[in-house]
Amino acid sequence: MDDVQKLKNLSEQTTFEADGEPLVNASSHRETMRLSSPPPACFSPKEKDHAFTHPAQLPNGQKIILLKTLLSSACERDCFYCPFRAGRDFRRATFKPDEFAGLFSKLTDAKMAEGVFLSSGIAGGGIRTQDKLLATAEIMRKKYNYRGYLHLKIMPGAEKDQVYRAMQLADRVSVNLEAPNTERLARLAPHKIFLEELLQPLKWVEEIRKTVPAYKFWNGHWPSTVTQFVAGGSDESDLELLTTTSWLMKNVRLKRAYFPAFHPIRDTPLENKTAVDPMREHRLYQASFLLRDYGFDLEDLPFTHESNLPLHADPKQAWAQMNLIENPIEINNADKLHLIKIPGIGLKGAEAIINARRINKLRDLSSLKKLGVIAERAAPYLLLDGYKPATQLPLL
Ligand code: SF4
Repeated sequence: MDDVQKLKNLSEQTTFEADGEPLVNASSHRETMRLSSPPPACFSPKEKDHAFTHPAQLPNGQKIILLKTLLSSACERDCFYCPFRAGRDFRRATFKPDEFAGLFSKLTDAKMAEGVFLSSGIAGGGIRTQDKLLATAEIMRKKYNYRGYLHLKIMPGAEKDQVYRAMQLADRVSVNLEAPNTERLARLAPHKIFLEELLQPLKWVEEIRKTVPAYKFWNGHWPSTVTQFVAGGSDESDLELLTTTSWLMKNVRLKRAYFPAFHPIRDTPLENKTAVDPMREHRLYQASFLLRDYGFDLEDLPFTHESNLPLHADPKQAWAQMNLIENPIEINNADKLHLIKIPGIGLKGAEAIINARRINKLRDLSSLKKLGVIAERAAPYLLLDGYKPATQLPLL
């Protein structure tokens, strides 16, 4: 297998790994690439059309073309949900660090990739595999002077000094917890150790942030940290997932949790398990953003008796139905934390309201619409200068 075939093989199989936000569909992205970038010499015309990469948005809002791939799809572990688990019959591929770094440099030169998310199957233990990922990142940064976005995966069992080195080289580091606690992880990955192998590296990242100044990192910033759960893979509840997510956000400054919905993979122990409704993934993202950005606590979220989020209801809207119908929020004097609790008002909308009302009182929904508010959604939960906008009747 040549390098391009290897990359094709490895990047095709990483669609389950999440980073950033998808922006446009892959076909229009490939069309753009065809029009704008000559392929490197090692890419045939057919290969240049292949979706090695994905449009993505970085934490700072920058839009880039991201390559998500593995250094190796060979793995000695046997996680029940994973297509790379040991013993599963498929064609595996492995890059040496200098091979991958050289190929990626060609991709960036041809403007076919502007960032990379690099993970790996485990071979020879987590420490040895982490060393290979670090060696690859070192070559990219030093030999090829790569200055773009790099998301490095921390391997289960990596050591603290390896985590530190990864932080020095990357813009983002991640450890996939896969499940919310030890008991649930045992149902998914019996040879991963939740506290020591997975949670501990996330704690180390935060310890390092607290003790090492940001200027010691490659671009003068500490890298952000994310994790990923296999939502529904261990029959865990949404409350369990969000309890762990909330703890991580408060205690180790987790930037984001990803919740890809479980879907069964042929020839794995979970191949007969039912796929999870993608709406569950969507509700978990909505709830995690409420915890991270909107001042919500776990107890504010509308969990069912089974400790799950209702699939049919937006969690912010469900909270507002229970709490704001009888106590609507006055748009003209509420602080930002209250404004963003209203469905249809986001962080930017709340700031726009605060700026606009310094000049004039806001008295109708059309004024809110002009400020970026989804006025119809917000209307049942607010007052405009003492009046409910739907009826425009005075409250008193
Ligand atoms: S360690 Fe990672 S690559 Fe290996 S089987 Fe588990 S999830 Fe898959």
